[in-house]
Amino acid sequence: MNVRKAARNAAKKIFVASGALRMAHRLSAPAAVILRYHSIQDRPEQYATTIGCDSIHATPIFERHMELIARRFNAVTMNDVALFLKGEKSLPQRAVAITFDDGYKDNVRFAAPILNRFGVPGTFYVLVDSVDRSKAPWYCLLRHAFWTSRNPKWSDPATGTIHDLSNSQARDAAFLNTAEVCAQASAPAREELVEYATRSLDPVPFPHEGDLMMTWDDARTLVKSGHAVGSHTMTHPNVAHVSLTEARSELADSKRKLEKELGEAVKHFSYPHPALNPQWNEATLKMTEELGYATAVTTTPGAVRADARPLAIPRTYIPRKESEFLWHIERTFVFRPGAGGEVHPGA
Ligand SMILES: [Zn+2]
Repeated sequence: MNVRKAARNAAKKIFVASGALRMAHRLSAPAAVILRYHSIQDRPEQYATTIGCDSIHATPIFERHMELIARRFNAVTMNDVALFLKGEKSLPQRAVAITFDDGYKDNVRFAAPILNRFGVPGTFYVLVDSVDRSKAPWYCLLRHAFWTSRNPKWSDPATGTIHDLSNSQARDAAFLNTAEVCAQASAPAREELVEYATRSLDPVPFPHEGDLMMTWDDARTLVKSGHAVGSHTMTHPNVAHVSLTEARSELADSKRKLEKELGEAVKHFSYPHPALNPQWNEATLKMTEELGYATAVTTTPGAVRADARPLAIPRTYIPRKESEFLWHIERTFVFRPGAGGEVHPGA
């Protein structure tokens, strides 16, 4: 670590410990900070080529995060946030909501027991087609295929581009480029491209097929334990970049299927952000409203204040280190960031 970075980290620690940001927050308008997790793993390295390390928090780190949330903040639900934005409920000071995208099995195996122990409610946005078919999401299959390919190059049949695969940087660039093509393709076209890629790239066998996603029984157990389950679409496109018909079926079919499996109304939605900006637009916002969603969360950073739009709610990424974690939440309460989302392959 260089001297400047060390000094900056020390300053953050002192600032968090002094309570100056907490004081500033007490003086500012009511707000909630929504945290965006994906995967919680005991052995993150085993999922590096599939889920991807950026989307994984190790179990002990997540446990420490939840201990801090239970002790220093007030955990709220997305229903609380929805009522706050309708002006029907006030939020406690230092309100934080915990969310998970994608619907990985580890959410039930590792995250839920910790949430239950600390009495922290979570909202789990599941990828409905993947849960229903017990099938890994397309970006996990694609990442694994590019990262473990035994070929020196690969020709993309959709664009004719020949991708270099001779080093890890080139592989990642090829993966991200193909993810952009997939994010805006129709579901059948995307599935065809991913099947072709996983075959023609000659990767090592996919290690977690059939065991990566939670089951419907898992989802029902989460609801019975007091957590919420919401939609993250059927197949994880960027809904702002597919046709309106395709976007509508992603939003409507996932809600309908979830309601059938869970036996209750599904009110909460999370916009996938596998590639490309923006991740939502006025047309998708209108659709979520027409379909009866009460909230939709995005990857745009920032706190949820009373003037936020319920169907385009900001959420924040989560640093792993304790001092960074606290600093990030405290500053999110106080400062208003600029607009823009955080593209996160597999987010
Ligand atoms: Zn996602």
